[in-house]
Amino acid sequence: MRTLIRGGTVLSSTGAVTADVLVDGETIAAVTAPGMLAGQNVEVDTEFDATGKYVMPGGIDAHTHMEMPFGGTFSADTFETGTRAAAWGGTTTIIDFAVQPKGSSLLSTLDNWHEKADGDCAVDYGFHMIVSDVNDATLKEMESCVAAGVSSFKMFMAYPGVFYSTDGEILRAMNKAADIGGTIAMHAENGIAIDELVARALAEGRSEPYQHGVTRPPELEGEATSRAITLAKVTGSPLYIVHLSAAQALSAVAEARDEGQNVFAETCPQYLYLSIEDLGKPDFEGAKYVASPPLREKHHQPDLWRGLRTNDLSVVSTDHCPFCFKDQKELGRGDFTKIPNGIPGVEHRIDLLHQGVVAGEISLARWVEACSTTPALMFGLYPRKGVIAPGADADIVVYDPAAEQTISAETHHMNVDYSAYEGMTVTGRCETVLSRGSVVVDRGTYHGRAGHGRFLERDLCQYLN
Ligand SMILES: [Zn+2]
Repeated sequence: MRTLIRGGTVLSSTGAVTADVLVDGETIAAVTAPGMLAGQNVEVDTEFDATGKYVMPGGIDAHTHMEMPFGGTFSADTFETGTRAAAWGGTTTIIDFAVQPKGSSLLSTLDNWHEKADGDCAVDYGFHMIVSDVNDATLKEMESCVAAGVSSFKMFMAYPGVFYSTDGEILRAMNKAADIGGTIAMHAENGIAIDELVARALAEGRSEPYQHGVTRPPELEGEATSRAITLAKVTGSPLYIVHLSAAQALSAVAEARDEGQNVFAETCPQYLYLSIEDLGKPDFEGAKYVASPPLREKHHQPDLWRGLRTNDLSVVSTDHCPFCFKDQKELGRGDFTKIPNGIPGVEHRIDLLHQGVVAGEISLARWVEACSTTPALMFGLYPRKGVIAPGADADIVVYDPAAEQTISAETHHMNVDYSAYEGMTVTGRCETVLSRGSVVVDRGTYHGRAGHGRFLERDLCQYLN
């Protein structure tokens, strides 16, 4: 089965060229000058005319939470619905977080996540491991995780009593990661201090969603980020700060990077476009925007865009963690601490970042790099993913940069009853999406199937200094 994508502007992390892309089976066979294959008797089964369109490597969303347990409920997208929505938006790989409950083993957790995802995914997927219980046995199991293709381990400086790890536990896990080549991903917020602010707010009767933002100030993200960076420096472990939202945290990352430390960070579209004002929407609507770290004051946004330009923010992921407004977010009426944390987003990351290109905030090359190439390198998937080149998996998006669309829960494909970007009109849209050579989406029609997506055994980080 051969597919030819003709005459498009082929994008990479270094720029753009007009070229034809030949797909043979599941991989890219050739990238040639336009028309070069025409006289060469190459038989092609399907052709797409990509004139005037971008041809880019499929997106990699390195931060999703499908079917994630939280406060007695589960995030609303299954691996089936969540990867279908991802495909609609041009994301052909997700890396989801397997969540170790305290007292269980990492390998049984991994089995559990395989069971959830196996046979259900429309696009390829990998896992990170959330380590919430650091002890001799789980430290040893980190080696088996790496051998099983799970080379990154997330820890929490937030959520005392649930996922929280002490500095000592973090140090032990980082030492192990440094020994075995793993990467530590960190949720960097000072949860101990936050819990005090939360207790005071509730005692004073401040219980509405806006208080979620007030009780998690950006200084406590900055402080935790600095502390994580220091612990990583002492141990020699690579560090990847997840969902960076605040200028204070960005400064800490930039300083460490200037010193040559292997410290990296991602941000998410919600921190680039939404703000704490959304948390203040009336009639409990603010609950739709409750996630941690919280949405910040708007003045953080230009700093985050600058961080994307300078590569102090290397990756854009979504932290996709959808909870329906009805019955799920509503669990927190009268007590903001009971609102399930998370914002849906897996479907619109590529489009929202393309808006950054349209607005002149980032270049085309940075768009592709932050959404696809760098996550592939960061998480050991390159050059199988993250690039349009011979031999790479044929995960390809034909993107129409001129199309207009209005984001809405009425038309999105995520299994959630609201959109955080309801009514926002964006320029650009995925026209055709291929996952390993199979057409998954084409001009508004879905052709994918559950079970097409395969588990990706990832190598170690390929992005180290
Ligand atoms: Zn997350």
